[in-house]
Amino acid sequence: MTAAPGPLETRVDRTRCVGTGACAATAPEDLTLTPDGRALPLRTTPSDLELLTEAAELCPVEALTIHRTDTGEQIAPAY
Ligand code: SF4
Repeated sequence: MTAAPGPLETRVDRTRCVGTGACAATAPEDLTLTPDGRALPLRTTPSDLELLTEAAELCPVEALTIHRTDTGEQIAPAY
């Protein structure tokens, strides 16, 4: 098991989001859809990292990403 990378933050590029809703359905503690049909993080710090990582990997346009707060490095989706 690898060490936790420290503080993380959730980002949604709302200009890229196409509103599938897959992320909010997968990680409802962390994401919601706003009335304009795009995703929005409910909190900056991930609540359920496992589900949020799954959601980031499901996003078809890579609008949802998870980053280390200290370095900005993207940790999900992984390439
Ligand atoms: S999965 Fe991606 S495209 Fe779909 S609502 Fe979430 S951020 Fe937007």
